[in-house]
Amino acid sequence: MVEMICIVCPIGCHLQVDEKNNYTVTGNTCPRGITYGKDELVAPKRVVTSTVKIKNGLYNRIPVKTNGSIPKELVEKTMEIISKVELSSPIKVGEVVLKNIFDTGVDIVTTRSM
Ligand code: SF4
Repeated sequence: MVEMICIVCPIGCHLQVDEKNNYTVTGNTCPRGITYGKDELVAPKRVVTSTVKIKNGLYNRIPVKTNGSIPKELVEKTMEIISKVELSSPIKVGEVVLKNIFDTGVDIVTTRSM
């Protein structure tokens, strides 16, 4: 039995995941905890948030995030690629900065306009 805290929402339920019983999850308040608990042991994923450089904007950097979860082992490589991106204003919220990162089907998108 593995114990963990669900990080999907601020409630932070204390989960127990039984890896010897088909990754049965208990302690969750909602179904998202079941998915999180199982994935965390089988194939952990994360949403990535960061910023990228932008020219001619109100600020020097603009916030970005993945529009879905990517495998945890790709987070560091994704951050390296994000750090090399440079945009030019004007940019709208939700614009795709990097498409289909590492063939995950997930894009890096802006989270504000500038
Ligand atoms: S199980 Fe549901 S309610 Fe509990 S922390 Fe996870 S997402 Fe939030």
